Amino acid sequence: MAYDFDLYVIGAGSGGVRSARFAAGFGAKVAVAESRYLGGTCVNVGCVPKKLLVYGAHFAEDFEQSAGFGWTLGEADFDWATLIANKDREINRLNGIYRNLLVNSGVTLHEGHAKVIDPHQVEVNGQRYSAKHILIATGGWPQIPDIPGREHAISSNEAFFLKELPKRVLVVGGGYIAVEFAGIFHGLGAQTQLLYRGDLFLRGFDGAVRKHLQEELTKRGLDLQFNSDIERIDKQADGSLKVTLKDGRELAADCVFYATGRRPMLDNLGLENTGVKFDSRGFIEVDEQYQSAEPSILAIGDVIGRVQLTPVALAEGMAVARRLFKPEQYRPVDYNMIPTAVFSLPNIGTVGLTEEQAREAGYQVQIFESRFRPMKLTLTECQERTLMKLVVDAETDKVLGCHMVGPDAGEIVQGLAIALKAGATKRDFDETIGVHPTAAEEFVTMRTPVAG
Ligand code: FAD
Ligand code: NDP
Repeated sequence: MAYDFDLYVIGAGSGGVRSARFAAGFGAKVAVAESRYLGGTCVNVGCVPKKLLVYGAHFAEDFEQSAGFGWTLGEADFDWATLIANKDREINRLNGIYRNLLVNSGVTLHEGHAKVIDPHQVEVNGQRYSAKHILIATGGWPQIPDIPGREHAISSNEAFFLKELPKRVLVVGGGYIAVEFAGIFHGLGAQTQLLYRGDLFLRGFDGAVRKHLQEELTKRGLDLQFNSDIERIDKQADGSLKVTLKDGRELAADCVFYATGRRPMLDNLGLENTGVKFDSRGFIEVDEQYQSAEPSILAIGDVIGRVQLTPVALAEGMAVARRLFKPEQYRPVDYNMIPTAVFSLPNIGTVGLTEEQAREAGYQVQIFESRFRPMKLTLTECQERTLMKLVVDAETDKVLGCHMVGPDAGEIVQGLAIALKAGATKRDFDETIGVHPTAAEEFVTMRTPVAG
């Protein structure tokens, strides 16, 4: 049967764009539908604008520390509207780049909401298109628990477009987004509290990293409230919010920001017209080649709920394009040793196993740790400390995990990820000459294990 397209991609986000462009480059006839914004979450309401706001927040400490280096500054004044307008201009520029990338690679772009009609048909803007393969790359959406007054809370989607910086912010959650945005609001001058329901935030990260970040954020004046959760939110006559916690405490805020995870974006997608199945959390179930229970329908990225990171969606998109249209170049995505950063202030950078995961997996581990005051701070009053940690397999000497809390941890861990992927041993680390004077050189100079 002749189809209109070889591949119809729903969603022009990180994974969808990558897959569509590469499939078209391999000679396939490809269309992509996008209902909201080109470039998806990462470009519009995720990684990119978030990082720009983190840069903005970082200036506060730069100004403070500059005095130690002889600078005298006038009173610093921050204007939220300028930062948001400049951010919006940059995102518009990136939207244009994404449009050109798609069009120049020969992909047909349909701007509108796509609905799957049957295993080989998609409807957009009242038109139906047939395709041999349909790729669902519709991403995720913030999930706010159903509490009374939930309509008064915002998510990351709205935070990027607030008209003004709220004076008092309550951030709810203990994952990437909560920790990053607490740092943004605090750095930009809002009175910020982070509420997390458990004992310690960033579940799944190395224990020493979580504790170290807790200490550093507290030193900076961020109010961390663990074992705290919201019961209800009530709007007051003056427009402020009264927040009642489950333990009965009452807090006042101007903004309640929820970052309590993301659900798959399946709204009005029509998957009930197909045999696609879902996992227990509601994400699309796919096999190791991203094929759903409906053979003509594939899915990648946040909507399959494996690892919700842009570089992972990109890798999955590439794998699908190769498998379908360039099988001789197909390589499965390797989910081991995925490096990641939390762009808190200071950053977390991490790759490989945490100490807890390594012990649980039965490794006999050696732990190396270095804690120090970064050189840049020696001329300042700032007492921030950096943590670096290596988890090593005592039997084979292989480095199983690298973890860092400190300036530029995200930048540093990218290079370490290559070493770990190549199977580097602690001896390889020891025999590598450092770059002096840097913080990163500590990773090759840790000699004495702190625990075995
Ligand atoms: P998306 O990028 O979400 O793209 C899905 C697209 O599909 C969207 O454009 C959507 O409009 C469109 N769509 C949905 N339904 C339809 C439909 N029916 N018809 C047509 N179009 C549709 N990851 C990192 O690696 N580093 C970071 O620093 C980072 N920071 C983040 C910060 C925030 C605040 C958030 C929310 C996420 C962040 N992420 C980060 C995660 C990252 O953004 C996602 O993992 C990534 O965008 C997933 O890509 P995707 O292709 O699966 O989906
Ligand atoms: P996460 O899954 O990282 O964290 C969700 C947090 O919310 C957890 O602390 C969780 O607690 C808590 N939580 C969940 N449900 C509730 C509830 N009902 N009430 C109270 N607390 C709750 O999600 P995020 O929203 O922070 O981010 C989504 C994903 O986006 C991340 O996992 C990451 O993959 C990606 N991302 C990546 C970034 C990066 O690379 N720098 C930055 C931002 C996002 P508990 O731990 O107890 O379950």
